[in-house]
Amino acid sequence: MSDKNELYQQLILDHNKNPRNFRRLKDATHTCCGTNPLCGDELVVDIKLGADKRVEEISFEGTGCAISKASASIMTDSFTGKTEEEARALVSEFVNLVKGESGPDGTPHLAPKLKVFKGVREFPSRVKCASLAWHTLESALDNMN
Ligand code: ZN
Repeated sequence: MSDKNELYQQLILDHNKNPRNFRRLKDATHTCCGTNPLCGDELVVDIKLGADKRVEEISFEGTGCAISKASASIMTDSFTGKTEEEARALVSEFVNLVKGESGPDGTPHLAPKLKVFKGVREFPSRVKCASLAWHTLESALDNMN
């Protein structure tokens, strides 16, 4: 196994076991549910936008496979302080990354820990697992409570 694969495995195992921000937000301004029927993943994403329209808090809760949970967990760790526009740009960079549609310079804003999800593109059935939380976050931004 290459170092990259090992990093990917460790990160996913860690976040699956100890998901970050795994709770509902009582004062969320935006909420959306997402499902991936192919795998059985289901989650809800809560976002609280502050008065300055930046992400103040983001959380998720749900059930699903290790990849969907780890991806959601790492995602919630990546959006605090972002504007809505920045958040949408991150979502599209990540989705392109896991689908294998971005070139070497296609993900300038993604943190290295997010780039390990690139490994998912080799498993087409897992792409929907990895991108579920991200699509749900994007829908949540369209869905003010
Ligand atoms: Zn899944």
